[in-house]
Amino acid sequence: MSMPPYEKSFAFKFPEASKEWAYDKNKPLKPENCYAGTARKVWWRCEAYGHEWKTSPMNRRKHGCPTCYNLLRRGRNSKA
Ligand SMILES: [Zn+2]
Repeated sequence: MSMPPYEKSFAFKFPEASKEWAYDKNKPLKPENCYAGTARKVWWRCEAYGHEWKTSPMNRRKHGCPTCYNLLRRGRNSKA
């Protein structure tokens, strides 16, 4: 595994999303050792509810927790 310089790491570029990095499941990989655009899938755990999902850091830059997203969407639909 090649280590990125800190300025190119996921941790540096996406500090908010890095809070949801599932350290225990991704051991020994950390957002500091991962390029922001890496395509390898890793685990995430959402801050709000602790939902877990797996996606690449590359996708994580655009999308948050899919379970929260679905809950929110269903909530909106049920009120309509
Ligand atoms: Zn969630």
